[in-house]
Amino acid sequence: MDKKRIIANWKSNKTAEETILFLDSLAAAWIELPMQNKEVIILPSYTSLSAAYVYCETEGLPIKIGSQNISSNEEGAFTGEVNGRQLAEFCKFALINHSERRRYNHETDQDARSKVLQALANSITPIYCVQDENAAVPDNVSEIVYEPPSAISTFESGAHVDDLSNIERVLSVLKGRCPYANLYYGGSVNPQNVAKIMNTPHVSGVLIGGSSLSVEEFADILQAF
Ligand code: PGA
Repeated sequence: MDKKRIIANWKSNKTAEETILFLDSLAAAWIELPMQNKEVIILPSYTSLSAAYVYCETEGLPIKIGSQNISSNEEGAFTGEVNGRQLAEFCKFALINHSERRRYNHETDQDARSKVLQALANSITPIYCVQDENAAVPDNVSEIVYEPPSAISTFESGAHVDDLSNIERVLSVLKGRCPYANLYYGGSVNPQNVAKIMNTPHVSGVLIGGSSLSVEEFADILQAF
């Protein structure tokens, strides 16, 4: 992969209207940003997926849209779930096994495996989070994010970005285990540290939470390398 990927995980933030305002401001800034070496994927809430997808298509904004979750089941009697066939209308990607899903929704490795199968069955690329180098990775996962819980800005008080040397070490182990996967880092990425992280061996991109929520800060990240 030549381009570095910036994946924005908006978590449970922004209405559909706020999503469009963000995309509109980003589109206005886009022409000035050094985008030749980058690809942006935004993961809004379910309620904003359609609006975000339609906006990017109609305005020609070259951003891909993904979901933050996916049902572990097919279409059917699963109240409150959103399945892969439904997501595939708007999404090329689905985030799976994020630490918040594990901590707050008690998702397990088995749940994550089922979600990966549902994504792949619907031509959605799983973006699979691992908490350390030993975490289980389901078969046929091509995008793996190393995101240590201690680095997620909203997770622990005193959360801090992982050491570059440790990112390199963990990604080397993952590369050995999954030689064909693209590897990413997530956790407390911001405009000040993104360039160094991107230059760390094996890093194909970053997953960004808090710093992806304001257009100004997000544009600063895109400007930074
Ligand atoms: P953060 O979140 O960038 O706010 O640390 C990252 C994530 O949880 O995906």
